[in-house]
Amino acid sequence: MPSNNHVIIIGGGVIGCSVAYHLAGAGLRVTVVERGRVGGGASGVAAGMVAPLSETPSPGHHLKLALESCALHLELLPRLQEESGIDVEYLPSGILHLAFTPEDEDRLRARMEWQEPLGMGVQWLSSQEARLVEPALGEEVTGALLSPREGHLNSGRLVRALAQGAARRGAAILQDTEVLGLLSHQGRVTGVKLPSGDLEGEWVVLASGAWAGLYGGWLGVDVPVHPVRGQILATRALPCPISRIVWHGLTYLLPKADGSVVLGTTSEEAGFRDRATLQGIAGILRRAIRLVPAVAEGELHRVWAGLRPASPDGLPILGPVPGWEGILLAVGHFRSGILLSAITGKMICDYIVRGDTQPLAPSSLSRFAS
Ligand SMILES: Cc1cc2nc3c(=O)[nH]c(=O)nc-3n(C[C@H](O)[C@H](O)[C@H](O)COP(=O)(O)OP(=O)(O)OC[C@H]3O[C@@H](n4cnc5c(N)ncnc54)[C@H](O)[C@@H]3O)c2cc1C
Repeated sequence: MPSNNHVIIIGGGVIGCSVAYHLAGAGLRVTVVERGRVGGGASGVAAGMVAPLSETPSPGHHLKLALESCALHLELLPRLQEESGIDVEYLPSGILHLAFTPEDEDRLRARMEWQEPLGMGVQWLSSQEARLVEPALGEEVTGALLSPREGHLNSGRLVRALAQGAARRGAAILQDTEVLGLLSHQGRVTGVKLPSGDLEGEWVVLASGAWAGLYGGWLGVDVPVHPVRGQILATRALPCPISRIVWHGLTYLLPKADGSVVLGTTSEEAGFRDRATLQGIAGILRRAIRLVPAVAEGELHRVWAGLRPASPDGLPILGPVPGWEGILLAVGHFRSGILLSAITGKMICDYIVRGDTQPLAPSSLSRFAS
C-alpha cells in the first residue's frame, strides 16, 4: 500500500483517534475531522473502566474482543504514553461486585462460573471477607465477587494521548470542523464535504459515535446506532474511602488517581440531550451512598453526561458497508468504547493496510440484515 494513501476519519473520539494512531503508525496519510474538540463526545465523559469481564454479560464474541483489547491496551500504553507525553493514569485497581440479596448472589456466582476458567483470579468473598478488603462498604452487603485484574484509566487523557500520538506519527487533526456529507463516485466513497470545501481520500472511516445513525442517509443505508445518555459525577472525599472499583447493578464508584471518586451512572433514552439532570444525579448519589456510606461526606466536584453509541445488540458495528467501497464503520461501542478502542483501531488498520477481513466479520453491519 503506497504511503500517500489518504484515510479520512469522521469523529475525534476514542475510536477515531485510536484508528488514526494505528494507521499513522503503519505509514498512511491520516486526517481526523472532529466538529468540536477531540474527546468532546462520550469519550471524554467515560468512567474509564478497562474491564473485560465486568463489561461483558456472558461469554461470546464480545468477551473475546474485550479480552484481546484489554491485553492490547496494556501492551500499547507504555509506548503511547512515551510518544504522546501524556500519562493516562491506568490503575489495575480490581473490581468488587457487591451482593445485597440472594438474587444478586445467584447472578454473581453464575458470572463467576464462566469467568473462573479464564484465569483472571476471580473469587467469591463472604460479607466479612469483602469488608476486610474494603472496610467502608455498607452494612447491607451480603457477599461480593472480586475481580482483581481489571482496572481503569483517565479516558479524557487516553483520547488526548491517542490524538497526540497520531499527530506525532504524522496525522492531521482538524478540530471545530464538521463533516457535512460524503463525496462518492460509482459506488465508491471518495472523500468528505467540509465547510471549507471537499477533502478527498482513498478511505473514509465513520467513527462519529452516537451520531452515526444520522449519517446512514448519506449512503442510503440504515446504520442502527442511537444515543443512550449516561450521567456521572466526581466527588472529593478525603481520605478516599475505597481502593478498588465498587459496583452494584448500574451503580459504581471508582477511586481515581487524582484522589477523586467517580460515581456512575444512568442509562436513559433521552435523544441527543446530553446534559446531566437533578433526577439522574440524585439517583446515582442515593444508590452510591448505599454501597459506600462514607462518600456522603465528600464534596461535589463535577457532574457530566454523555451519549453512548448504542447498536441494537449493544455490540460494535465494524467494517464495510454493503454496496459501497472506500468506507468503513467503527461505531456502536455503547458501554465499552474505552475498553474496545485498542482492538478497534488495530482491526480497522489491519483491514485497510493488509485487507484482513476475517477479524471484522462477526461485527459487520450485515448481521442486522435479516
Ligand atoms: C457515563 C458514561 C460512562 C462510560 N464509562 C465507560 C467505561 O468505563 N469504559 C468503557 O469502555 N466505556 C465507557 N463508556 C462508553 C464510551 O464512552 C463510549 O463507548 C465511547 O466513548 C465511544 O467512543 P466514540 O469515539 O465512538 O464516540 P464519541 O466519543 O462520542 O466520539 C464521536 C465524535 O464524533 C464527532 N462527530 C459526530 N458527527 C460529526 C461530524 N458530522 N463531523 C465531525 N465530527 C463529528 C463528535 O463530535 C464526537 O466527538 C461510558 C459512557 C458514558 C456516557
